[in-house]
Amino acid sequence: MRPALRAGLLPIWRDTETVQIGVDSRRAMAITGGRYAADVIRLLDGSRERADVVAAAASMGVPATVTERVMTVLAAAGALIDYPVHLLRSVPTELRRQLLPVLAVASLGGDGDGGARLLARRSAMSVAIRGAGPVADLVADLLTRSGLAAYLSGSADADGADLIVLVGHQSPADTADLLRVSQPQLAVSASEGIGVVGPLVRPGTSACLRCLDLARAERDPAWPLVLAQLASRSADPPACDPVLATAVAAQAAAMVVAFADGRPLAQSAVNGTLELLMPDWQWRRRSWHPHPACCCGASDVM
Ligand SMILES: [Zn+2]
Repeated sequence: MRPALRAGLLPIWRDTETVQIGVDSRRAMAITGGRYAADVIRLLDGSRERADVVAAAASMGVPATVTERVMTVLAAAGALIDYPVHLLRSVPTELRRQLLPVLAVASLGGDGDGGARLLARRSAMSVAIRGAGPVADLVADLLTRSGLAAYLSGSADADGADLIVLVGHQSPADTADLLRVSQPQLAVSASEGIGVVGPLVRPGTSACLRCLDLARAERDPAWPLVLAQLASRSADPPACDPVLATAVAAQAAAMVVAFADGRPLAQSAVNGTLELLMPDWQWRRRSWHPHPACCCGASDVM
């Protein structure tokens, strides 16, 4: 083990014997470690094996029993992780620099391995982003910098992807094609000053894009005609400024990362859409249900 203070939390001294790890009270913990605690804590940067920490502290006059006790107290408080040195050595320097903040956030989530397993899961997951424009580019960039294998793709079935992100309105033909796709899909759009993230489609078990179109057509009988025109026409320029594009891309990337991590957060976009109506800061969730007239089979499961 290479003990390191949980990444992303700053050690701050409250008095000569008490260290507070972290600033915000929702994250911080206070530990009384005696007068040697500062010397030991300075050595906990993940660069040394546990025995080497004890030896380095001893060279500064800190008794081994004291060093062990400080590390035990820190570990009991959840402030220590096993620094993922082997994982970090295996990735290129530039990518490593980008991933360190990702690992720090993962570490705050409670992973005692410094985010190593989380990063392994993410890097094994490929995400195809189908669509063009600023939102597609931003989503691809955010996912890559979050440790996922993301790529822009022109095809509907996006060979081998574990998840497909669909950016922009989908034509009826696209929606019909997607019924044959077995991978989960996340729809994303930003136009007319409105951002929409979702639904996250789990084929055959949750509402698909056609389910949503069938529901819209029940409320607006002209919807199929509207939809048919969207296949070949879009507003130029679109009413999607950089702020909206960035907000939508960040929300979409958050859903994809939650899906990759297996966190319940991703469920908020299942059988639902998250919507931001500009100018506003607050996302609202709209529920959708599998439509009984849709051939995707999800309504049979519900
Ligand atoms: Zn459906």
